Amino acid sequence: MEYQQLLDFDRKHIWHPYTSMTDPQPVYAVESASGVRLKLYDGRELIDGMSSWWAAIHGYNHPELNRAAKDQLEKMSHVMFGGITHRPAVELSELLVRLTPSPLEKVFLCDAGSVSVEVGIKMAMQYWFAQGNKEKQKLLTVRSGYHGDTFMAMSVCDPVNGMHEMYTQVLPQHHFAEAPTCDFHDKWDEKYIQDFKYKLEQNHQDIAAVILEPIVQGAGGMHFYSPEYLRRVRELCDQYEVLLILDEIATGFGRTGKMFACEHAGISPDIMCVGKAITGGYMTLAATLTTKQVGDGISRNGGVFMHGPTFMGNPLACNVAATNLNLLLQGSWREKVQNIETQMQEELAPASDFDAVHDVRVLGTIGVIELKNPVIMKQAQKEFVDKGVWIRPFGRLIYIMPPYIIKSEDLSTLTRVMLEVSKNPPIQKD
Ligand SMILES: *Cc1c(COP(=O)(O)O)cnc(C)c1O
Repeated sequence: MEYQQLLDFDRKHIWHPYTSMTDPQPVYAVESASGVRLKLYDGRELIDGMSSWWAAIHGYNHPELNRAAKDQLEKMSHVMFGGITHRPAVELSELLVRLTPSPLEKVFLCDAGSVSVEVGIKMAMQYWFAQGNKEKQKLLTVRSGYHGDTFMAMSVCDPVNGMHEMYTQVLPQHHFAEAPTCDFHDKWDEKYIQDFKYKLEQNHQDIAAVILEPIVQGAGGMHFYSPEYLRRVRELCDQYEVLLILDEIATGFGRTGKMFACEHAGISPDIMCVGKAITGGYMTLAATLTTKQVGDGISRNGGVFMHGPTFMGNPLACNVAATNLNLLLQGSWREKVQNIETQMQEELAPASDFDAVHDVRVLGTIGVIELKNPVIMKQAQKEFVDKGVWIRPFGRLIYIMPPYIIKSEDLSTLTRVMLEVSKNPPIQKD
């Protein structure tokens, strides 16, 4: 198929994330990718600012990850997980238990982030059920959250600004506290947690778990909130006997400058969801971890955990993931993330003075320019591509989270283009 035919077929038949069939967004055909560069079929090369949605932390076409996939392919790409185990699943799980905060030690390997959220929520509900507490079946979360696109995950996404507003009638109703209003560096004031505390006090009898994205509210607005907020959440969950689920799918594996974002607060959850960067962006895989307490609790009186996807523990994905995590541990990721953070802080700062810009913020390798008005996606996307970078803005946000291996010159190109576009962004006129 020629380049144009490929695009034509795509336009007519293929759904992309959150798109229309009658008014499709333009797409760019990528032929290959290597390091931090995406190569288009028309020959252009783009510097990648997105890590394919938080995932490709070591860049594309990495020799060691390639080898891990090839080696495993020659042994077996898949075998069922019911009644069978294998080295890739065990090695990956050992790494996950070792890397995550200490009380987490039971691993459920799932297919994707949303599934790991479903699994985490089920764990919490089954836990209380097995303790003979049949009332605790609801969740408490905060507004502006994002936890995935499956139904239960949707039910804890932001009910208004989320992507799932039309489903509110069919979704289970949970408790929502206001989104954290404190910024990452704000001095703590107990008023920041007031609404959350109140909702928990009022409803803890029917709440199985609190679910939150730790420190970074990602798809809900790229807001970074105070670690003290998270510390208080942990205390309140303990006080009111509610489990804490932390969704580290976007933040996990070094993205915010800590291995897991909850480490900023020095706390650990009862249940943790990880995904995205786990295979270094090679293929889909996620995991849900929990404590001995929850694991044993669910298993009381012959109880079993009721989940078991067909491709659970896929050896190919597990082998790449284990290699990816070893690569992370062997490399100087802390230093790389720190350098990216420092460089972005310096280079993005001038945007604060632009008329169209509301806020500029950086945490770890996440760099955000928040505009005053939403951008016209099609137009902004084309500007970025024409300037040689892959940055995909959404709403009022122009942001990057590049692979950790990005070189300083390439990062400068990304930040320069971000400034150029945000100086005079294509915005919707209201
Ligand atoms: C991406 C994401 C999910 C969903 O993961 P998928 O792999 O897309 O199903 C859930 N929670 C957070 C915080 C995410 O960033």
